[in-house]
Amino acid sequence: MPRVVLDSERTAGATRTRDQIELKHKWKIEDLYASEGAWEKDLAELESEMRAFARCKGKLGKSAKQLAKCLDQQLSIVKRQYRLSNYASRLHDQDASVTLGQQLYERIGKVGTRMSAALAFVEPEILAIPPKKLDTFLQSNAIADYRHYIDNITRRRAHVRSPSEEEIIARAGDLADVPYNVYQTLSTLNLPFPEVKFSDGSTVKLSQALYTRYRSAADRADRIAVFQAFWQAYRDFRESYAGLLAGVVSRDRYHAEVRSYKSDLEAALDATCVPTSIYTTMIEQVRAGRPLLWRYLKLKKKLLGLAELGYHDLYASIIPSVEMKYEFVPAREIVLAALAPLGPDYIAIMKKAFEERWTDVYPTKGKRSGAYMSGSAYDVHPFVLLNYNDDYDSMSTLAHEFGHAGHSFLSNKHQRFHNSRYPIFVAEVASITNEDLLRLHVTGAERDAKKKLFLLGEYLESWRTTVFRQALFAEFELRIHEMAQAGKPLTADLLDETYLALLREYYGEADGVCKIDPHYAVEWAYIPHFFYNFYMFQYTTSFIASTAIARRIHGGDTGARDAYLSMLRAGGSRYPVELLEMAGVDMRSAEPYKIAFEAMEQALTEIEKLVESK
Ligand SMILES: [Zn+2]
Repeated sequence: MPRVVLDSERTAGATRTRDQIELKHKWKIEDLYASEGAWEKDLAELESEMRAFARCKGKLGKSAKQLAKCLDQQLSIVKRQYRLSNYASRLHDQDASVTLGQQLYERIGKVGTRMSAALAFVEPEILAIPPKKLDTFLQSNAIADYRHYIDNITRRRAHVRSPSEEEIIARAGDLADVPYNVYQTLSTLNLPFPEVKFSDGSTVKLSQALYTRYRSAADRADRIAVFQAFWQAYRDFRESYAGLLAGVVSRDRYHAEVRSYKSDLEAALDATCVPTSIYTTMIEQVRAGRPLLWRYLKLKKKLLGLAELGYHDLYASIIPSVEMKYEFVPAREIVLAALAPLGPDYIAIMKKAFEERWTDVYPTKGKRSGAYMSGSAYDVHPFVLLNYNDDYDSMSTLAHEFGHAGHSFLSNKHQRFHNSRYPIFVAEVASITNEDLLRLHVTGAERDAKKKLFLLGEYLESWRTTVFRQALFAEFELRIHEMAQAGKPLTADLLDETYLALLREYYGEADGVCKIDPHYAVEWAYIPHFFYNFYMFQYTTSFIASTAIARRIHGGDTGARDAYLSMLRAGGSRYPVELLEMAGVDMRSAEPYKIAFEAMEQALTEIEKLVESK
């Protein structure tokens, strides 16, 4: 899969066309291919490499030298396909109204499918080499560079079945997406969302997007009306939703069982070699940190002037929004100053990125919304898409995407292609670390109490939504899989009951922090991520790891900085947990959580003081 890290999707609202933007604020796509003709020529080269590769079939087990030679050929093919599709995607994303991008994208997509088929024999053939023989291969210098790559295939030997069984398993793959597809159709197309009448007399027909807008309504009666109506819509279909969720849990169960894993969690995490203890430690540690969330929620209740905080009050903003303008060019300087603790070599990469036009800055007509970084053009440079909007959020997104870009640049520079692709578990660490360094820099320098309050308020909200809310989701996901494994049917009642209990525990109902209306227990039906097979915990682990890293680096710990940079350079040459360990963060232990919660506590203390002195 080409490596594109896709971040927030926001509406661009573009009024300008591409030719109205200065060249220096547009990415230099010619660095990929000087012309369409050059792209065609490289495609022809890819086709001939693919034909030549067929000669490797049946020969991988012959000798270490032969295996290394074939793997080199395979790498060259994949690398070329990535660069070709990178060009097509960038062209398409910068302006969808230009059809060339779409055409090239479709063509290279089909080549990609053929490529996967042409390379499909590699893994089974490596697995078929007798372990003892493969071990002697691995002693040889010819193959030394591929040790991690090969280990990543053979480590799952015990979970791979015979070729005919594998074929049957693969066929079941077609059924695997059914629950999610139906879920999406039901939620986005069929679910009849109600109308809500607001206190000013206006009415709005809800949708998912409008729910996220109006759940933070300033008028409490409006918020409650939105929550009551929105969750009623899901309640009306809760048995159907329960059926779909039960379907996806059975799918995960099936895969865990046919591949002889002890649990669904183990099966899911083994795909990227993450031990299950990372998951359970995360839940334990976040649970232990709940008193800080409760302290924040009590402050929220006080600032909102409420006698009782309800679940429908959580999105209401406690701090009036303040005008903070950050135009791109000055913002770039602020980001560079914020990242200075990462050292001169890192800053040099950021400057190079600005000078060599890695970034497409402004929203324009036909351009893709949101922001992302693509680092898949291994021997070119990373590309960053932004829709820069002159506010703090845009500046923070710039720092975030440049975190991904710095990571890709360093891993592409220091690792061979097959070891350059870093795992998803560490991907967001590089970006959130930059975001956090920016926040520490800006908040620390801000003298205006209102702006400082706003920044601290936003930060604490991100703790609530990224750490606590995601940990709750992760725990719910684990529990429903465990219940299914124990033979309990996942009925709507059981799902509601399990979810409601978690809401009450996380938001401190028993301690008088936040009251949960049982009407909202159906929220589980709203979260599409429960269909992604144990994915969400990484939002929390990434946030915690980056917070710990940024806190040390911002404090001037050069040892921590060097350790972190060595992780960035290591790319995907090691397994996820080892990579974070290189950066000085052991996610199997409580330590990073302790450091991160200190950062939250510090922000809380600061905001409480500011509120007192107002
Ligand atoms: Zn990201």
